Amino acid sequence: CGIVGYVGPQSALQVVVDGLARLEYRGYDSAGVAVLGGGALHTEKRAGKLANLRGALEEHPITGEGAGIGHTRWATHGAPNDVNAHPHVDNDNRVAVVHNGIIENFAALRLELEDAGCKFTSETDTEVAAHLLSTELAARGDGDLAAAMRAVCKRLEGAFTLVAVSVDDPDLVVAARRNSPLVVGRGQGENFLASDVAAFIAHTRDAVELGQDQVVELRPDSVRVTDYDGVPVEVNEYHVDWDA
Ligand code: GLU
Repeated sequence: CGIVGYVGPQSALQVVVDGLARLEYRGYDSAGVAVLGGGALHTEKRAGKLANLRGALEEHPITGEGAGIGHTRWATHGAPNDVNAHPHVDNDNRVAVVHNGIIENFAALRLELEDAGCKFTSETDTEVAAHLLSTELAARGDGDLAAAMRAVCKRLEGAFTLVAVSVDDPDLVVAARRNSPLVVGRGQGENFLASDVAAFIAHTRDAVELGQDQVVELRPDSVRVTDYDGVPVEVNEYHVDWDA
């Protein structure tokens, strides 16, 4: 339902949770965050309102100097509970993903991944994306999360905005879209992304709208957009001049 990503010098956890609060008007049934720090991936997620997630974060504080992603879920596959809330991680807890939309061919992908030894913890369609990314990264061996994302997107059917972070590249957020919104916010030495500009206009009004079937690599000082074949594409930059 709602997606936020951040990379830069501010506390990613703070920026992401604040961004999720700005998307609350859309309605949701659970919320979660993943932040990179100290060579590890820290995830917290809870069914119910953002207050439940905030409470969990007070009980088990997570810190990280790296990138962060967050999600408010509107369940389509699997009950709205803590386990099915996003982010979803791979079996080594090295890659985390959040997802809006529906992966139509998730059942076939899940069987294939289970045959290959992946252990699933949730009932969501989303979790296949975490295991596919991890499998692709292992096959590539070069840690290129954006390249892995492009390869994974080619295997997915349906409508999705998919956002991922990896412990191997803590200052990077990678996102992709097909038939589901995704907007980048450009800052000074920091960058944002979200399903809706409302999530980041407190920080920047310089936006980049992603086109159909595109992948973005967000680093503190760069925004790189390609198609699913890795070919760089022209982006549509604009200034958000309305009040939110
Ligand atoms: N299909 C996913 C799920 O049920 C994502 C739903 C959403 O867009 O929030 O977990």
